[in-house]
Amino acid sequence: MQLAAIIVSLVLIAVGVALFGRAILQIYQHMRLGQPVPKGTRTGEPGRRTVTVVKEFLGHTRMNQWGPIGIAHWGVAVGFFALLLTIANAIGQLFKADWLLPLIGDWLPYEIFTEFFALVTTLGILALIVVRQLSKPGRPGRKSRFAGSNFGQAYFVEAVILIVGACILTLRGLEGAQHGVDGYEAGFFVSYPLVAAFKGLSVGTLQNLTYLVAGIKIATSFIWMITVSLKTDMGVAWHRFLAFPNIWFKRESDGDVALGALQPMVSKGEPIDFEDPAEDAVFGVSKIEEFSWKGLLDFSTCTECGRCQSQCPAWNTGKPLSPKLLVMALRDHAHAKAPYLLAGGGKNAEGEERATEEQLANVPAAALAEADRPLIGTLEENGVIDPDVLWSCTTCGACVEQCPVDIEHVDHIVDMRRYQVMIESSFPSEAGTMLKNLEKKGNPWGLAKKQRLAWTKEVDFEVPVVGKDVEDLTEVDYLYWVGCAGALEDRAKKTTKAFAELLHIAGVKFAIMGGEEACTGDSARRLGNEFLFQQLGQQNVEMLNMAFGEDADEGVRVEKSKKKIVATCPHCFNTIANEYPQLGGEYEVIHHTQLLQHLVDEGKLVPVTPVEGLITYHDPCYLGRHNKVYTPPREIIAKVPGLRNEEMHRHKERGFCCGAGGARMWMEERIGKRINNERVDEALSLDPDIVSTACPFCLVMLTDSVNGKKNEGKAKESVQVVDVAQLLLDSVRTPVEPGGDGETADAPEPDPDPEPVK
Ligand code: SF4
Ligand code: SF4
Repeated sequence: MQLAAIIVSLVLIAVGVALFGRAILQIYQHMRLGQPVPKGTRTGEPGRRTVTVVKEFLGHTRMNQWGPIGIAHWGVAVGFFALLLTIANAIGQLFKADWLLPLIGDWLPYEIFTEFFALVTTLGILALIVVRQLSKPGRPGRKSRFAGSNFGQAYFVEAVILIVGACILTLRGLEGAQHGVDGYEAGFFVSYPLVAAFKGLSVGTLQNLTYLVAGIKIATSFIWMITVSLKTDMGVAWHRFLAFPNIWFKRESDGDVALGALQPMVSKGEPIDFEDPAEDAVFGVSKIEEFSWKGLLDFSTCTECGRCQSQCPAWNTGKPLSPKLLVMALRDHAHAKAPYLLAGGGKNAEGEERATEEQLANVPAAALAEADRPLIGTLEENGVIDPDVLWSCTTCGACVEQCPVDIEHVDHIVDMRRYQVMIESSFPSEAGTMLKNLEKKGNPWGLAKKQRLAWTKEVDFEVPVVGKDVEDLTEVDYLYWVGCAGALEDRAKKTTKAFAELLHIAGVKFAIMGGEEACTGDSARRLGNEFLFQQLGQQNVEMLNMAFGEDADEGVRVEKSKKKIVATCPHCFNTIANEYPQLGGEYEVIHHTQLLQHLVDEGKLVPVTPVEGLITYHDPCYLGRHNKVYTPPREIIAKVPGLRNEEMHRHKERGFCCGAGGARMWMEERIGKRINNERVDEALSLDPDIVSTACPFCLVMLTDSVNGKKNEGKAKESVQVVDVAQLLLDSVRTPVEPGGDGETADAPEPDPDPEPVK
């Protein structure tokens, strides 16, 4: 028994270690097939990056959003590394059954440590096995976050961890029995029942049992190692190693998720100069090897947990896009194509093969076939990613927010869109109208510039215009960036007028641009037209800098803290705050709900009139997830007397998109249920009187859906969709007259009937 266990174990260890070393080299070579990244972008602030990795691993900060599942995974993940020495112990036990690790083998803290992690690993994996079984896609279908994941691989990994955990505890029991542990003690606080069970067995039996269990533990561990070494695309196993570099090299060195700004377009690791692009510049991504090495690392790190999929609005409304399946498809394609690329294969811009026949002579046929697949293409074209998948994304960021290993889905999706739009001109045709309008008129509706100021005639106070009523913005506290929707779309204009009136009431000095400003370029950029975004952005940045009193020719600069902008549109807010710095525009930008909350806190706006009714607030993705503004709108709602707020099931970090982001506002939604209808169904399930939000795009999408539901008789006529600013104005504008019976404006008695919100 002993000899057999030794021989089998040593052979498996030798093969496992050799193959594992080869696999690591292979993965490294695969990553090197990707493009370089701009210098310093993935390595800046190494100390902070290291702290992030430690926090995310030891604190499981990304996983703990998932409650008990996060705790169970912590046990398994930390236990894997904490219990590595038990392999050395088991090898020693093969030769001498009562062998202990030198120095620490019978050191009480180490024994407690081992017992603790053996317990949490075993319990953790049992819990995760139960979770997977309960969430199998059988009945719930695509509602299961595991739909499309590789179940066989997951079962294998789960079985290995369970067997190893059980072996460690059994070996502890055998160790205690051989070393004469005769009562419950701290060093055997978990395994003592096993010690007691083994007591009374002969020494020979205990030794043989030790050889057997140590052999099983070693064989199981190294069969796992051999298997994963032969399958380097097995994310469910490899993520436990690749997650560390993937998190360390994440986009944001401060540890934040890759949301907010999109990154400038780069080719071969250098930003593209659109005024004079290099001859061989690559625009966007049309082949797997055109992703950066970090992109390829992202794909390989995916553990197929499906947390991204469970939150994706496209997937949840029956569209073909699942961020998990997208990442898995890219990973599988990258691994399958790698032998061809490693042999020197690749096509030039004309589609001609660069490699010689000799170079490709030993490349497996499967890899050659994989190399012929278009990255974006339909099923008939044998594409890796279907165009319907690519264009279904709203860039809501729910996937990025949820991913426990920090995969940067949105950046990858936009990179693929960039090639389709800028080189192939291949995108949903409806979006072409929006692009043309942006090019010609500077706004997506194609309305005349002078229309931008039309709303100012519809309010009964003066709205100062920069360059006309005020010379420049040094005379005011804020530039109010109205945005295209706020200036031109009827429903959004209500928010604009309400917000301007609130500023007027609070005595805030503000001004608006004179109508020459253009769209910020949010939709153009997210559609993939980076060139147009750069054009619009440059134009706006120049105009803004000038309005704030800067003069590039004279070298006059104004510090960022003096360039204050407030925006009612979260898309404008995000672009100006997070993306215009890439174009030389540094401003202090806040969202209107932040400013309103501040004015209410300061007592400059006092909501007094009750607005009766049940309200539910919808988080705009570009305000919430992309910029972490969750509290101010809720604080304002809480301050309006009479309102009772009830959260939808999906809110804050897990809020559900309205369907308009990522330029989806300008595309038809032909597949599955409309995303705005899904969101409104969720809102209406609370039977609210008011659905509130803080974004003109959300306002339009939600209003459209609510109106449709009213027409179908599925929503009560009185339900309103309003911006938080409108609610606040309604409460501030018409204060309750103090009554003779002790009523005061500060303590109003709620009216019996719901008061409509204007
Ligand atoms: S950004 Fe939103 S819509 Fe796009 S894949 Fe991620 S979750 Fe889905
Ligand atoms: S959340 Fe991240 S790791 Fe999990 S399936 Fe999605 S991409 Fe993969």
